[in-house]
Amino acid sequence: MADNHSKEVRSMNMSHIRSENTKPEVIVRSFLHRNGFRFRKNDKRYPGKPDILLPKYKTAIYINGCFWHMHNCKNFVWPKSNTDYWINKLKNNKNRDKKYYKQMKKSGWNVMIIWECQINERRLVKLIKELRMNR
Ligand SMILES: [Zn+2]
Repeated sequence: MADNHSKEVRSMNMSHIRSENTKPEVIVRSFLHRNGFRFRKNDKRYPGKPDILLPKYKTAIYINGCFWHMHNCKNFVWPKSNTDYWINKLKNNKNRDKKYYKQMKKSGWNVMIIWECQINERRLVKLIKELRMNR
């Protein structure tokens, strides 16, 4: 119970980061890093090479682009041409994702998904709270 109060979350200036066109996974990683979390990146030994793997928290984080992973949000729109190709390709991605998450959970990992469109200060602060509960 002890030191929850001292563990305040170090925040970041999202607009500044955004303006530099930083990739979503870089934003999440640097946020975690500045808050004292240590992790591995894209570890090939695990299904789908999780963007962030936190062994201490037994947690794998996948950071998903809304288009490539077919997020149910306004960022996802079917391409107007080569429709069959895209349907096939993106549905395969989606099925593969599901398979990876299942395999990870089966081996005892917590799986967290962060969508590109949800990356903001509030989501990241929540992420840290969730991680601390997994310890
Ligand atoms: Zn989205």
